[in-house]
Formats: sequence, C-alpha cells, structure tokens
Amino acid sequence: MTVIANDTPPSAGGPAAPPQPPSTPPPVPERTVLDDAREQLADAAAVLGLPGDVHAMLAEPRREVSVSIPLRRDDGTIEVLRGYRVQHNYSRGPGKGGVRFDARVDLDEVRALAMWMTWKCALLDVPYGGAKGGVRLDPRRYSTGELERITRRYTSEIAPLIGPHQDIPAPDIGTDEQTMAWMMDTYSVGQGHTVLGVVTGKPIAIGGSLGRAASTSRGVVAIAVEALRHLDIEPTSATAAVQGFGKVGRGAARLLAEQGVRVIAVSDMYGAIFNIGGLDLPALEAHVDATGSVVGFPEALEIDGTDVLLAEVDLLVPAAVEGVINADNACFVRARLIVEGANGPLTADADRILAERGVVVVPDILANAGGVVVSYFEWVQANQAYWWTEDEVNERLVDRMTRAWRDVLDYAAERQLSLRLAATCMAVERVYRAHEVRGLYP
Ligand code: GLU
Repeated sequence: MTVIANDTPPSAGGPAAPPQPPSTPPPVPERTVLDDAREQLADAAAVLGLPGDVHAMLAEPRREVSVSIPLRRDDGTIEVLRGYRVQHNYSRGPGKGGVRFDARVDLDEVRALAMWMTWKCALLDVPYGGAKGGVRLDPRRYSTGELERITRRYTSEIAPLIGPHQDIPAPDIGTDEQTMAWMMDTYSVGQGHTVLGVVTGKPIAIGGSLGRAASTSRGVVAIAVEALRHLDIEPTSATAAVQGFGKVGRGAARLLAEQGVRVIAVSDMYGAIFNIGGLDLPALEAHVDATGSVVGFPEALEIDGTDVLLAEVDLLVPAAVEGVINADNACFVRARLIVEGANGPLTADADRILAERGVVVVPDILANAGGVVVSYFEWVQANQAYWWTEDEVNERLVDRMTRAWRDVLDYAAERQLSLRLAATCMAVERVYRAHEVRGLYP
C-alpha cells in the first residue's frame, strides 16, 4: 500500500520533485505577554550575572495544570470551559496569586502573571512564591448560579495543587470575595473541615481582612504620591487619568482625589469621561453604582476610551489589562509619570519608547503589590486568630509599600537602572538566594 502524505499530490511517476518553498513566508507569531515577562527576566539576569541554569529554571513555570470545566447552564445545556493554574516558583514559600475570569485568558497569559507574582512577593518580602489561575470566559454572560458552578468545578479540579501551605489563590479580574468564599467552601468540603487559609480576599464573615478590598488601590496611591513628590510635584497640584474603573482603578481614583489630586479623566470598558476641573469622585461612584458605567456621567464630557491613556496629565494609572500601552501609542502618551495599577499594562516596546522619552514608569510588581501584601496580612491574622483594625492594616500596608518604593529607588539610582529593571533585579536576586541556600533536589 502506498501512503500519501496529506500535503503531497499523488505522483504520476518519475523522479520526485524537490520540495518547494511556500509561496508566502509563514506569519511571524505575535509577541505575547509571556515574551515580555521573559524579556524582563532576561534583562535582570544579565544585570545580575545570573547563572544560565538558574535563568533557565526561572523562565519556566514549576508546575502547571489545564483543566476542562463542564458547566450545566441554567437552560440545561452543557458548555465546556477551559481553566488553568500555573505555579511559577515556590523557593520562598507557597505559591500565591489570583484567579482571573476573563475571555482573554490563555495559558501564556497565566504563565506570565504567575511569574510576575513570584517577583511581586519577593520584592515586597512576603513569604510566598508566585502562582496564577484563570478561566477563559466572559463573566457577564453567566448568571450567579452558573458562576458558582464554574468556580466550584474549577476549584475541585485544581484542589490537589492548592492549599494553605501549597498555593493560595485570591481574587483578580472578574472574581471577588464571593468567588473566594465558594473556593474556600469547595476545598473545605473536600478536606472534611473548614480551611480558612486556602484562599485570601475572603469576605470578613469567614476570616477576610479589613482593608483587603481597597488594598491594591491604596498601595497604588501610596506609591503614586511618593513618586509625584520624587518628581517635585505636590499631589495637591497634580492631575491624573485612570484607565479602568474596576476594583483597582475605581479605588485608586477615589483615593487620589482624597489626596487632593485632580482626577480629570477615567475610562471603563464602555467608554471614557473627562472634566478639566476634576471629576467629582463620590458623585461618579454613585453614577456607576446606579448605571454600571462611567459613561453618561452628567458632569463630564465623553471622550474616546483610548484617549484616557493619552491625556495631558502628571500621572497616568493604567488599571485594567495587559498591553494597553504599546508600540502604537506609547509615543503619544503625555503623562510624566505612569504607575501600573494593572499587571503588565505596558509592553516591552512601550517601556523602551517611554524610557527614551523620559517618562517615569513605576512597575506593576511594586505599584500594585498592595493586594498581595494585605493577602499576606489576612493569612497572618488567620494563623494567629487575632484580627487587626482597619487602621492597623492600612498603616502596615502603606509602611511596606513606601519602604519598598525607597529601596527600589535607591537600587535604581545606585546602578543607573530603570525602576522596572531595578525592581525585577531585586526580586530575582531574592528568589535566587532562596533557591541557592535550599539547594537542588535531588
Ligand atoms: N490578584 C492580585 C495581584 O495580581 C492579588 C494576588 C493575591 O493576593 O494573591 O497581585
């Protein structure tokens, strides 16, 4: 029997024709967020003179799982969703990182986010490694009951990998304290007893920490205030734009306004608004609670969503998703300072362009670390069964954030590095030290 390869036409006989090159070159694969994360690691490895084998190890996740999530929809049909949990590194402690419900989730994104969690935890010196999870779905398309079933099935699929000493999930885009309550309950049912420490970002009623909900925003603003002063800009005479009005952006806008910063432009996934005199944040929040969007807020002009990133302001806080500032728009950004509320909002290309233009960028692993810092406080409080006041939580958070800011600033100044490279070097060095002292098993 003759086997004919699928792409070979049946020959009429005679010598085989040499293989022909394809008429068009294969498309260049699009650069992913994981490429950018690996480039940041490579830059840090070069500065640190990291041994090649250690660099190779840190470029790869330690463990990853991809799970199928069959969902019985409210109408009785079955839909199959895809979820992931990636544990990048646990040299410094259990894996730590959020779970994202978003239509853009894929394995490479989760890998990048898990790597950034390793650096974030090391930089803020919380005793964890890095992990991340995600389910590919648009949560707006599902009822509360469906989201509960998705969460419980996802949790039971990743249950062998998580636990208070293994890997501790938390909220991220598209998930919240209710999601964490379902995860904690599902995991606890499997264990036969309540395990409070398996997730953080829980509701207060089941061991959550006061101050956790606003912690990422509070950390962003603490850093933004320090960074503005570093640039000789008094917060009370500064202007700001905030891209994204979800958990991080909304709190950041409110807390910036409370610090006297004039927040003149904000956006969400539906559109953007602008008021040169400064947006009335309490009124805007009431409008968002009533309508679900910043769009239609009466005391502002409507502008194009992407224009928020290009607003003429002192401070820009991108607080939504990855890659929003990239090679296409970085040269039009007019802010003097960018504080990354989101994870990975600048591509590596954008980073280079903005550095050449003298724009100061405070990287995500420092700027938005407030969430995981208070996750750590939640875990500490739960372990001690002793609860702090909200003021204590907030004070300790701001103290840690400002100390980390000063350390990164000093490290960057001493070595003439960008803040991102300095922060990544500090984090990678700490992970490397932990790895080195533990040694390689076996
Ligand atoms: N999802 C948040 C982040 O990206 C918090 C993670 C956590 O608290 O574990 O930092």
